[in-house]
Amino acid sequence: MQANFRHLPGVDKIISDPRLKEAGFPHDFLVEAVRAELDSARAKIMEGAAPATLDETVGAVLTRLEAESVNALRPVINASGVILHTNLGRSPLSREGIEAMAAVSSGYCNLEFDMENGARGSRHTYISRLVCRLTGAEAAIVVNNNASAVLLALTALCKRHEVIVSRSQAVEIGGGFRVPDVMRQSGAKLVEVGTTNCTYPADYEQAVTERTAALLRVHSSNFRVVGFTNEVSIEEMVQSAATRKLPVFDDIGSGCLIDTTQFGLAPEPLVQKSIAAGASLVCFSGDKLMGGPQAGIIAGKAEYIKILAKHPLVRAMRIDKMRLAALIITVQHYLKGEALQKIPVWQMISMPIDIIQGRANTWALAAGVKTSVVSGETMIGGGSLPGGSLPTCLLAVPGKRKDPAYIQNIAALLRNRSVPIVGRINENVLLLDPRTVPPEQDAIVIKALQDLVPVFKEAA
Ligand SMILES: *Cc1c(COP(=O)(O)O)cnc(C)c1O
Repeated sequence: MQANFRHLPGVDKIISDPRLKEAGFPHDFLVEAVRAELDSARAKIMEGAAPATLDETVGAVLTRLEAESVNALRPVINASGVILHTNLGRSPLSREGIEAMAAVSSGYCNLEFDMENGARGSRHTYISRLVCRLTGAEAAIVVNNNASAVLLALTALCKRHEVIVSRSQAVEIGGGFRVPDVMRQSGAKLVEVGTTNCTYPADYEQAVTERTAALLRVHSSNFRVVGFTNEVSIEEMVQSAATRKLPVFDDIGSGCLIDTTQFGLAPEPLVQKSIAAGASLVCFSGDKLMGGPQAGIIAGKAEYIKILAKHPLVRAMRIDKMRLAALIITVQHYLKGEALQKIPVWQMISMPIDIIQGRANTWALAAGVKTSVVSGETMIGGGSLPGGSLPTCLLAVPGKRKDPAYIQNIAALLRNRSVPIVGRINENVLLLDPRTVPPEQDAIVIKALQDLVPVFKEAA
């Protein structure tokens, strides 16, 4: 057995193999993978196997290294039918947004440089002006994401004071964002009013004390209370707060700027409406329905934004040049009235059903007779529009009743491609939704489905 160990190729010999050199993995990764492979080769010899050849060992090391690099961040085709899929990176950016990111990051840029007088400038000046123009706010500031926007507003303006929140809005948005926890972290005291299903203006008014700093509304983005309910509108909250000269903060969540009802969706609160209603600060995400990069935007009254801008947390939460570049372009799409045409999220939402049906039919043709086109729903997702879904056409790959592993295997084969395709499985049927796939990626999906035809045939 010792003799057989000696027949294994040595570390140096394996590492200098041209195939491994060409693959271009960093030296330390290579050595680690070679050692791990040799350990497993020795274990196999102990079990009585013949020693692996140099060729076999090199192949096995390559497989090891490639399997690991699968987890590097890379593009995925989202055929899941969830438009704002947080696990898949939320909103894709417009072509112009991507170009702007590349342009400012491939060299230097005027991030904090005033072009007019050649002196130090602020990264906030221009984007704030754009956000004001878009939302109608007096002032605005942009930070890392909406969670930091809310934390900043509460910390800078409500610390050691009370913030009144409806019991129905002391919610968990998902991914660790819980209103009571954020409130505690900010140093503000949460005062819950009303009941789980009903809150009235008088509930807020009666809860005001000399320690009250603000009234906070949180959009219950990912669930809905139905039946006997009463919500206090932002207009009513502003009215209740005005008599006591208190500010109203609106964590609106998704940052929707386009009326969603024109697409048959439930109404999503609009940023412009909240500002017009008199909210002192409105906080929202850049990468939900706004369709831009990850960012947290705070728009509202200048007296409050001024205080936020001076708070030390702003430095800790600041947005980088790449996302700022994409955000500027995204806001400009709205200002130019081209959001539906240019922003992928809105292209998907506004895509006509007959176009989707045509694409699903083409996919089905490539996949062969074992698949079919069925009608179903695209979810908006991303903690927006509870129950928000759009009618769609899906490619359906039926499972085998006696073999539940079959459909999991098909899903895995699609996921393990060089450009992974992610679908969704519902009751042992794999569904692929063309609405969430940019039409220019149809060729990749079609090729993948053609490659699967032998697997589908086998299942017949
Ligand atoms: C999504 C959401 C957040 C968190 O926003 P991020 O941009 O993910 O940090 C906060 N509040 C509400 C109401 C949300 O919907």
